Amino acid sequence: MELQSVYKVYSGKANRCMCGCSGKYATASAHAEFATAERGYDAQDVNDRSVKIIAGKVLRSSNKVIEGNYAFVEQNGRILVAYFKE
Ligand SMILES: [Zn+2]
Repeated sequence: MELQSVYKVYSGKANRCMCGCSGKYATASAHAEFATAERGYDAQDVNDRSVKIIAGKVLRSSNKVIEGNYAFVEQNGRILVAYFKE
């Protein structure tokens, strides 16, 4: 898992709805086309800085959980998720 293959990240409250009402997604500009195709609508939340910060925290954490094409960390009532392009 590498930072360059992260196409989307999520930061929000743990154990809550992840539609975006309890947190925020950010899309990597390099993978905006892929993210748009995956969602079926235009990715309006391109933010490389957020992707780098959130994905970096997830990847560096020793408590991260990897499931399928994403990895996440839960801490202090929040969840951080990094989604990988397969
Ligand atoms: Zn929601």
